[in-house]
Parts: sequence; C-alpha cells; structure tokens
Amino acid sequence: MDVSGAVRIGIFGGTFDPIHVGHLVAAVNVRHALRLDRLLLVVANEPWQKAGLRSITPATDRFAMVEAALGDVPGIEASRLEIDRGGPSYTADTVAEVAALHPGSDLFCVVGADVADVLATWEQSDVIARLATLVVVNRPGSVRSAALDGWRVAEVEVPALEVSSTDLRARAADGRPLDYLVPEGAVTCMRARGLYADMQMTVTSGRPGLGVPGALPAAAARMRPAVEW
Ligand code: ATP
Ligand code: MG
Repeated sequence: MDVSGAVRIGIFGGTFDPIHVGHLVAAVNVRHALRLDRLLLVVANEPWQKAGLRSITPATDRFAMVEAALGDVPGIEASRLEIDRGGPSYTADTVAEVAALHPGSDLFCVVGADVADVLATWEQSDVIARLATLVVVNRPGSVRSAALDGWRVAEVEVPALEVSSTDLRARAADGRPLDYLVPEGAVTCMRARGLYADMQMTVTSGRPGLGVPGALPAAAARMRPAVEW
C-alpha cells in the first residue's frame, strides 16, 4: 500500500511460452522496487500479435507452467484473467478489468524494453496510459527509443538476463539444455504435460532422476513421446 492506503497492483502480461528466469527476475525486482502489494503474471489467451506466425502452446498449459514456476513466491501470482475472458488478449481490456475489480488501486503495467517500443501498435493503448503507470524494465538487445508521450513511466533496472522464450523453444528443438533458464517447477510441469515434446528436449537438472533418460518418473515416462527429449 502507498501512503494514501491505495493497493499497488502490477500487471505483467506475456505469452510465457515458456516462462523463464528473465520473467521471474524482472517480476521480483519490479515488485520490490515499486513496493507492489501484488504483481499479476497475466498469461495471454491468444497473443494476437503472435498468432499465425508460429504455433503457440495452449494457454492452459502456459498458465500451468507459470503457476508451477512461481510456487509460493509472496506477492506474485499467475493470473487467468485473459484466459477466462477468452478470445484475443488485449492488455487494455485487462488493465480496465483489474481497475474495475480493485477500485482505488494504483495500477502498474510492466513491460520489457522491447515491448515498450511497440506499444503504439497495441489496441487502445490510451486506455492503459490513462489507468496505469507504465513500468519499463531493461532487456539485453533492446534499447527503448519510443518517446512514450502521454504515459506515466517508471523505469526499473533489473539484472540483465539474455534469455527469451524464442531461444528456449529453439533449444528444445535442437536438444540443447534448458537447465536453469526455465525454473525447475516449470520444467517438471512441461515434462508431465509433454509440452515441447515434438521438439527434442534435453533437461539434465531437476529432481533426482528427472532429467536422466531412462529414469523418468512414471507419469512423465507414460507421456514420453516417440522422439527423445
Ligand atoms: P518470445 O521470445 O516468445 O517473445 P519472451 O521471452 O519475449 O518470449 P514474452 O512472454 O513475450 O517472453 O514476454 C513477456 C514480457 O516479459 C514482455 O514484456 C517482455 O519484454 C518481458 N521479458 C521477457 N524476457 C525478458 C528478459 N530476459 N528481461 C526482461 N524482460 C523480459
Ligand atoms: Mg516476447
């Protein structure tokens, strides 16, 4: 809460396909820096700007990975708002929904520097600008250049981690390890659900036996695809 007693809520949207340490490190540092009471990791139902460009893991599976990655980190939650709303996911609708659910709260919309530069392409970005403070975190390889006139902007410096879901999917596809880049809980979830299983996935860390071919837990072994992962 701030001095006026308003609850401070952050909205950190993403496709999270899959979630990785870059997301989590940004989340905990933003929550700390801005003294947020809650930070919602909002899993996009249909990331409309990515649709058609590649196949996207079903939203419920991406949500399960986010939940599993978070465990019980205080103040940071996986949010189903966009999944429950259905259809294409527009952040403006999400911010408006959170504002309606929590009247009088202070809202913060968190994005990486790469996203900050393309906000003008978002649907009704003026609604977000009106209802929330934009929080921009640094991201390796992205320099924010957009002017962001009309936005209330807070910049939060987070440890720079050069990791992306795109790279992780490429790693899964050619058999390189995902270890430590994807939180262990999410890796366990991924394996149990057989996600990215059409890709060749190598994970060598995790609980004893989890990443060792031939020593998979029963549930994961049953779901093991024909391709080695
Ligand atoms: P993809 O490569 O599939 O686009 P991604 O790694 O960019 O995946 P998203 O789900 O698209 O992950 O990103 C959600 C949000 O997290 C965006 O605002 C993005 O800028 C931010 N983000 C992702 N990775 C990092 C990182 N390593 N450091 C800081 N911010 C990040
Ligand atoms: Mg991205």
